[in-house]
Amino acid sequence: MNKRNLIIIGSGPAGLTAAIYASRASLSPLVISGPEPGGQLTLTSEVEDYPGFPEGVLGQDLMEKMRAQAERFGAEFLSASVASINVANRPFTMMAGSTEYSARSIIVATGASARWLDLPSEQRLIGKGVSSCAVCDGYFFKGKDVAIVGGGDSAAKEALYLAKLASHVTLIHRRTELRAQKILQDRLRSAENITLKLGWAVEEVLGEMVVSGLRLAPAEAGDAEKLAVAGLFVAIGHIPNTKPFVGSLALDDQGYIESKDGVHTSVEGVFVAGDVHDRTYRQAVTAAGMGCKAAMQAEEYLEEVAA
Ligand code: NAP
Repeated sequence: MNKRNLIIIGSGPAGLTAAIYASRASLSPLVISGPEPGGQLTLTSEVEDYPGFPEGVLGQDLMEKMRAQAERFGAEFLSASVASINVANRPFTMMAGSTEYSARSIIVATGASARWLDLPSEQRLIGKGVSSCAVCDGYFFKGKDVAIVGGGDSAAKEALYLAKLASHVTLIHRRTELRAQKILQDRLRSAENITLKLGWAVEEVLGEMVVSGLRLAPAEAGDAEKLAVAGLFVAIGHIPNTKPFVGSLALDDQGYIESKDGVHTSVEGVFVAGDVHDRTYRQAVTAAGMGCKAAMQAEEYLEEVAA
């Protein structure tokens, strides 16, 4: 059994900021970096709104800098995923890879992942024309026709982004109203190469080796239609990465970790930070702020409660 003071699960901005604060407080944290080291920011290109970078910074570079900063103060990293956790007894225990770890306190910062339509044809063509990240993959569709599915801010922003690269963008949404902010809706409607296909659902992604089109079904009665596109971007929200915590920590009805104050979970000594709890702001800077708070609370807990 590998015994630790503090284990941080997840290595996005929340986990890495927690690691910086915890290592500077001499807690010698172990960061279990998870299946997507660096988190969602590594899937984006330029980050223009993270304070301190007036020229912007690449998401991957920002995460590498945060990790280096944590390592400088003694944080250790383990490239593995947590499969199960037991917080009923103290110290807490968890399995990561084939090793069992124990920890006096834990910070959960496992983030969230893109939600998919879950059509077999969509899953088969991921990376072959189907993508969940316009900023990452939009460039491959320069001058081509693409579609995006979703009606929220993400879908609207990604459609506007894609419209700068693709020759034409069709935004498909299952309802006749978008939930995106009005300013984004206005921009969508005034863009020359964006068509809104409202009240339609993607029924099948067409194509053998690569995407060649979509079969769309109307929400109300009516005939299916085919739309020829080279790419489909799926922007229908995110799912919190909370599988290992089901039954151990209180989760809300959508699976996010519950927390009254955004730091404490239902188990004393287990703290939360970032998108695995926060479904509203979902920004690197807010996740980093939550990581800082979680580390400070873990320090206090280790000093006072678990001493
Ligand atoms: P969201 O607001 O939850 O929107 C998800 C969209 O996908 C909704 O329109 C939903 O339809 C649709 N959808 C969900 N499941 C679907 C399915 N199985 N099939 C078809 N459509 C489906 O998610 P989001 O756009 O990713 O935004 C998440 C949060 O981040 C929001 O709070 C948003 O404001 C914020 N955000 C902000 C910005 C910004 O620039 N300020 C940018 C991006 C995101 P319904 O409308 O029918 O429910």
